[in-house]
Amino acid sequence: MGGVYVETGGDVAPLDSLSALTERDIQTESGRKITLLNSPSLLRRIVKEFEGSSSDRIRLIAYNPINPSGKPDPWEMSNLELLQKGQKEIREMVEKDGKMVFRLLYPIKLQPKCIKCHGDWKKTNRKVVGGLSVVVDKTPYDRSYGELVKKLSMGYLGLWFFGVIGLLLFDVSGAKLLKKIEYTSIHDKLTGLRNRGAIERRLHDELKLAERYNKPFSILLLDIDHFKQVNDQYGHHIGDETLRIVGNLLRQHIRETDISGRYGGEEFLILAPNTDLESSIILAQRILQGFHNSKVPLDDKTATISVTASIGISSLSEKVNSADELLKTADKALYKAKNQGRDCYRM
Ligand code: GH3
Ligand code: MG
Ligand code: MG
Repeated sequence: MGGVYVETGGDVAPLDSLSALTERDIQTESGRKITLLNSPSLLRRIVKEFEGSSSDRIRLIAYNPINPSGKPDPWEMSNLELLQKGQKEIREMVEKDGKMVFRLLYPIKLQPKCIKCHGDWKKTNRKVVGGLSVVVDKTPYDRSYGELVKKLSMGYLGLWFFGVIGLLLFDVSGAKLLKKIEYTSIHDKLTGLRNRGAIERRLHDELKLAERYNKPFSILLLDIDHFKQVNDQYGHHIGDETLRIVGNLLRQHIRETDISGRYGGEEFLILAPNTDLESSIILAQRILQGFHNSKVPLDDKTATISVTASIGISSLSEKVNSADELLKTADKALYKAKNQGRDCYRM
């Protein structure tokens, strides 16, 4: 609006720079004295009101200011020329008194309200009379930005650190869990031998290998004799302990290349790759001897019991050439061993 009339008194006094204006000072009908404050002087008042210890600065400048404080500095003067050519605003980081400052300059174009004070400017035919100039010292912002970055970095570093630890822990426990799941899915809990599914899968695999490489292959089906009596007489827990001992016994008496598993309740299956009927007989004898040599301790630990087992052996041949056939034949042989006195093997 080109200015505001304010009542004089206190820190408000008529502006010397506007002394040429006829209506700078007015007396109202009731006798109050008011004086015109123009835009640059109002802005100076506002800025003064809010200025702290910072060296930030905001002011109005003009090519030919009526107040010397509105005189452009060299940076402002050269950039006023760019605004004159149509540039909308100037933003720049510049060095000022040894520190980096951010400078902004907006154009103020000639408007009817300006003519009151800058009337002669009209003759020059130039659009931009002056500008709004802002200087912001970057240092305090740099400092707080630096502190913010430091705080954030510490935060992110912590997050990253605990995240990695967490991932590692999860990974380790996850990997352990997977291993455990894998183990329990193929092993019998009581004896630690392969379970029925796992030993059957292995039977198929070993059979294929034997056929492909034309190698002998035998299986031994073992069943503990009168096991029901063990349970009935000494209790289920002694029966379980017996099964565990039999599991260990099998592990000890088979060769490294043989594979053992718990096939059913008290039935075990031993796969003997690269083993013909004769060699598997020796293996069966060794296992039966192992039963003779082991004892199952009873509850008071002073007394022990012994168990025996019967074994049915079957070997890969032209007639017996599938997993089913091998198992069926071994079962028949086992049945024979049971019928013919137990504690023995049959083929
Ligand atoms: P045979 O000499 O004819 O094989 O007689 P057996 O008593 O061993 O055979 P039977 O099939 O009559 O009994 C097998 C017993 O094995 C019955 C069952 O309770 C027991 N059994 C099966 N699995 C387990 C187990 O995991 N723990 C215990 N303690 N006993 C089991
Ligand atoms: Mg049985
Ligand atoms: Mg039995």
